[in-house]
Amino acid sequence: MSKSKPNILLIYSGGTIGMVKDFKTGVLKAFDFKTLLEKIPELQLLECKIDTISFKTPIDSSNMNPKYWIQIAEIIESNYSAFDGFVVLHGSDTMSYTASALSFMLENLAKPVVFTGSQLPIGDLRTDAKENLITSIQVASLQVKSKPAIKEVCLYFEYKLYRGNRTTKINAEHFQAFASLNYPDLAESGVYLKINNEYLFKPNTRKKLVVHKKLDENIALIKLFPGISKAVFESVFNIPDLKAVIIETYGAGNCTTEKWFIDILKENISKKGIHIINVTQCSGGSVMMGHYETSSKLKKIGVISGKDITTEAAVGKLMYMLGQNFSRKTFKTMYETSLRGEIT
Ligand code: ASP
Repeated sequence: MSKSKPNILLIYSGGTIGMVKDFKTGVLKAFDFKTLLEKIPELQLLECKIDTISFKTPIDSSNMNPKYWIQIAEIIESNYSAFDGFVVLHGSDTMSYTASALSFMLENLAKPVVFTGSQLPIGDLRTDAKENLITSIQVASLQVKSKPAIKEVCLYFEYKLYRGNRTTKINAEHFQAFASLNYPDLAESGVYLKINNEYLFKPNTRKKLVVHKKLDENIALIKLFPGISKAVFESVFNIPDLKAVIIETYGAGNCTTEKWFIDILKENISKKGIHIINVTQCSGGSVMMGHYETSSKLKKIGVISGKDITTEAAVGKLMYMLGQNFSRKTFKTMYETSLRGEIT
């Protein structure tokens, strides 16, 4: 008996990919996703069955926020048993943030969730959307012994499949808009679709999917720069209900050793219980607190090391973890541990 084709759910949240040009006026407008199969006949040739669902009002991903992340997670949750894989069409601007957040929200995920988008609209003659969309669907349909081959949240763009929570948008113009500097590509699309099996996430498939929808947004993100003033730095810590701050430091997690700077951090950690996460502002490499004198004080006062996490994943992990009730000590240990392959 022949095996039935995999069922793929295409979720359209918005972004350039879903737009077509009105050739009379030259204006870009949202594409009616119900007619997707008619507009891209190539999709009918794929070895899978495709269903589509769209946000009521598709958004530019610059308007993305945790409420929309929950909406995407709920669509996946309510369709989880009926589909073998999910492809999320999303604007590229904040795609890495959404893919990262979803990786934490979908615990024990055993099916592929592939994020993709494009730099040019699907209705543009030179579009990169068709290849991105077609290959993403192929990736989501891959099976080994009738089970999904990929069991994690990933991002496909310009011939490469990445682990979603390892990506960063690095270019606003090139078709190759994303990079994963601290983790190898999961797959590459050339004449063949080459899957790098050794790098795929291997979840415990006996555990059931748990969808975490409690995200705590009481966080801040500060990028250090030479000359940052005490007034600017301190003002962030006066934000009401603040629970955690990610600091983008220099190089391997270094910062100024000026007394006011360390004192503010120390006071907020010990007296107010604020979690401070050290993430590097370099696109590649890792925080190594204690390696230089300029980071050893951070280690001593209890700053949490983000290691080689991206800022995008640091934000999602923080909102997700603050939504759980971890004790202070567990929080630090858990944050410094890889939960979904986000750190090495
Ligand atoms: N501004 C758009 C967005 O992120 C760009 C894109 O789709 O690539 O929604």
